[in-house]
Amino acid sequence: MTDPIWRPFTQAKSAPPLPMAVRGEGAWIIDATGRRTLDLVSSWWVNLHGHAHPAIVQAIAEQAGRLEQVIFAEFSHEPAVRLATRLVDHLPGELSRVFFSDDGSTAVEVAIKMAHQFWRNKGEARNRVLGFEGGYHGDTVGAMSAGRSSGFFDAWNDLLFPVDVAPFAATWDGDPKVEAKEQAALAELDRILGAEGHRLSVAVIEPLVQGAGGMRMCRPEYLRAVADRVRAAGALLAFDEVMTGFGRTGTLFACLKAGVTPDLICLSKGLTGGFLAMAVTVASQTVWNAFLGDGIDQAFLHGHSYTANPLGCAAGLASLDLLESKATQDRIAAIERIHRQRLGALRSALHPRVTGTIAAFEVAGAGGYGNAETKRLKQALFEHGLLLRPLGNTLYLLPPYCITDDELNTAWDVIARLALGG
Ligand SMILES: *Cc1c(COP(=O)(O)O)cnc(C)c1O
Repeated sequence: MTDPIWRPFTQAKSAPPLPMAVRGEGAWIIDATGRRTLDLVSSWWVNLHGHAHPAIVQAIAEQAGRLEQVIFAEFSHEPAVRLATRLVDHLPGELSRVFFSDDGSTAVEVAIKMAHQFWRNKGEARNRVLGFEGGYHGDTVGAMSAGRSSGFFDAWNDLLFPVDVAPFAATWDGDPKVEAKEQAALAELDRILGAEGHRLSVAVIEPLVQGAGGMRMCRPEYLRAVADRVRAAGALLAFDEVMTGFGRTGTLFACLKAGVTPDLICLSKGLTGGFLAMAVTVASQTVWNAFLGDGIDQAFLHGHSYTANPLGCAAGLASLDLLESKATQDRIAAIERIHRQRLGALRSALHPRVTGTIAAFEVAGAGGYGNAETKRLKQALFEHGLLLRPLGNTLYLLPPYCITDDELNTAWDVIARLALGG
C-alpha cells in the first residue's frame, strides 16, 4: 500500500516510515507492534492529562450525542458560554472577551487582525507589529510574519509583512550575565520604540518561555520591563500563550506568574486537554469597546467554519475540571521538583533551565535544526522508549501532567546516560 500522506515538517525523500499509533494510555503511546513510547513532548505540547483520558472521552461522547456543531454566527450554545466564562474567571485584569478559532496560528492571526482594526476604528495610524528574536507564533502568513526572526520561513519571505524585531533576553539557571543581557535587550527595545513606537500597533511575545525557538526562558522581571515599555509607547500587548497556557509554566497561565496583564492573549494547544483543535483569543474590555459602533464596518469580520465547536468546548470544560483539581496541581509541582533535582545534578548539561513542567538544556557538540548528531540522539532515545524532539541542540522535556514520578525519573536516567554520558 502506498502512503498518500504528506507529513508536516518532513522531507519525504529521506524520511523513514513511521510507527502506526493505535492507542494511548496515560503518558504512553502504543503502536501497532505493541511497543510503548513515553510521550515526553505531550504530542506537540497539546496533551495535559494523558492520552484517551476517560473524563474527556465521556464529555465529548455525551456532547456529540446532543449537539456536534452549530453555526456560531446564528446560535450560541451552553458549552461555549460556560468555557468562555471559566476562562475569563481565571484570566487577570479586564481580559474578558473570548473569540474562538481553530488552532494556535489562527489565535495569533486573530490577535494581530484585532489590534490592527482596533487602531483603525480609533482613527489612529498604527500598523506596525513588534516581534521578538526567536519568537514562533505559527505557520499562517500573519503568524509567520510575527515570528519571522525564527528563520523557519525562508521559503515565504517575500510573502510576509514587515515586523520590527526586538531582542529576547534568554537566560538559564546560574547565568552570570543575565542582568547585562536584559539591560542590553531593553536598550535595543528602547531604540526601536523611540523610532517606531508611535506607529506600533501591537507587540507579540511568548511570555516566559519561547517554545519552538528552543525553549528559551526569560525572567518575569524582564518580561514586566518589556510590557512597561510597550505600554509607554501606547501600543497593545499580545501574549502568545499557545504553548505556555494551561499550567505549563506552573501557574494556569504564564501571565499570572509574570504578573503582567496583556490586552490580548492567545490560547490553544492545551485548551481541550489535547483532544481537539480549538483556540481562543481573549481581548480586554478596552479592545472590545473599540469594535462597538452603528455600522458593520467597525465589527470584527472574521470567523471560521468550526468556530466554538461544541465537542471542543466540552473537552475544554472537562480538561479545566481536571486542571483545577488538587491532584493535577500536585503533579505539576512534582514534575517541576523532579526536573530541578535531576537537571541540577547533571553537571555537563549546558544552560540548564526549568519553568514549571518544562525542562531544557543544550547538548554540547550537537549543531543546528535537524542535524545528524541530533537525529542520532533522538533515534537512540526513541529506541529506549522515549519520545523527545530536540530543537537544534536543545533537548527538552514537556510531559503530560499525569506522568508519574517513576516514569519521569526513569526518563531522566536514560537521558542522562544517552545525551550526557552521565
Ligand atoms: C504551536 C504554537 C503556535 C501555533 O499553533 P498551531 O496550533 O500549531 O497552529 C503558536 N504559538 C506558539 C507559542 C506555539 O507554540
